Amino acid sequence: MRIGVLGAGQLGRMLALAGYPLAKTFVFYDMSGSPSAGLGEVIIDREGQYLDDFLSRVDRVTYEFEHLPVDVAEKIAAHKPVHPCPRALQVCQNREAEKTLFGELGIPTPEWKIADSAASLKAAAEELGCPVVAKSNTEGYDGKGQAVLKSPEEAEAAWASIGHPRLIVEKFVDFHREVSIIAVRAEDGELAFYPMAENTHHEGILRYSIAPAPKLEKHVQEDAERYIKALLNELDYVGVLTLELFETTDGLVANEMAPRVHNSGHWTIEGAMTSQFENHIRAVSGHPLGNVAPRGLSCMINIIGEHGDIERILELPYAHVHLYNKGERPGRKLGHVNILADSYEELVWRVKNCAQFLPGSPEFKSSLTPKG
Ligand code: AMP
Repeated sequence: MRIGVLGAGQLGRMLALAGYPLAKTFVFYDMSGSPSAGLGEVIIDREGQYLDDFLSRVDRVTYEFEHLPVDVAEKIAAHKPVHPCPRALQVCQNREAEKTLFGELGIPTPEWKIADSAASLKAAAEELGCPVVAKSNTEGYDGKGQAVLKSPEEAEAAWASIGHPRLIVEKFVDFHREVSIIAVRAEDGELAFYPMAENTHHEGILRYSIAPAPKLEKHVQEDAERYIKALLNELDYVGVLTLELFETTDGLVANEMAPRVHNSGHWTIEGAMTSQFENHIRAVSGHPLGNVAPRGLSCMINIIGEHGDIERILELPYAHVHLYNKGERPGRKLGHVNILADSYEELVWRVKNCAQFLPGSPEFKSSLTPKG
């Protein structure tokens, strides 16, 4: 089976690496002009002239990237099976549509309002009560196009700095930690849920994911499974879906979803019986799902901006290095290291030991490290 992937970055690369043992072949469709998948066939098509060529070479189509025009996905869906469906893409590209869907499905969200001017941003901040987070309604990711307002008086400056005609304004959530759940749904509706991960960000970029999330109460995992299941079934979704959440004293609050394999699931490559990448390929290809049980405790460390001393990390007997074959640039995701251990204590020690060879890494902070 030939799988067409929309987008050609590291997620596509890892999908292909997981798909080759199942005898899948891959054709990537890149509209950015800078593909980095580095394997399979890549069709670069900035002007959208080679779509027919792409379609003639694939049996099924999926995405590794959600910021592509929905009409392109719909055009493709008229000719070849596309998983997940273009509606999932549409919802994820529009924070208002996403939060509305969450609300309809009973998934808790921060209280939110829409602003389409500096004056309405100020009014929203007054009504919700500061602090609030203002985010561009479309085209935002990794904290870009956002501003935190500590008082309604900051509305004018925040409106100017974001520079977008429509914003979603959210009440600032006082969370203990950020977590995510990754789930997969097969063509026949079979579902599987990975254990949740605890995620630490620095400068808007994910740095560490620990899974299973430490001290995770059973009912919290169950709540997350209920929420993501509602989304999967509502969207008649096929493939891997990620839901990012805040854990608060009052339970989980949803932030956003990603209609694809996710950075907070990279630990599954060695840390789960079946990786998120293989399970996505299985689902998209119409196969049964693989076992999602963890193989122990995992922490994923992202390699950001510079590679650091990879040779030293390769010497560590508990570290698995994944490089994306990309050039160094500040803030760029260049690879990740998966660390496995049998106890959280051992995991913390191993993560710290590894992170010292990654000069771009912030100090390891998690619910496992003392607050300072
Ligand atoms: P996003 O682009 O929506 O994922 O937001 C990027 C980051 O901003 C999140 O990972 C959080 O750390 C923070 N953030 C976003 N929305 C909120 C919110 N309503 N309350 C508190 N922090 C938030």
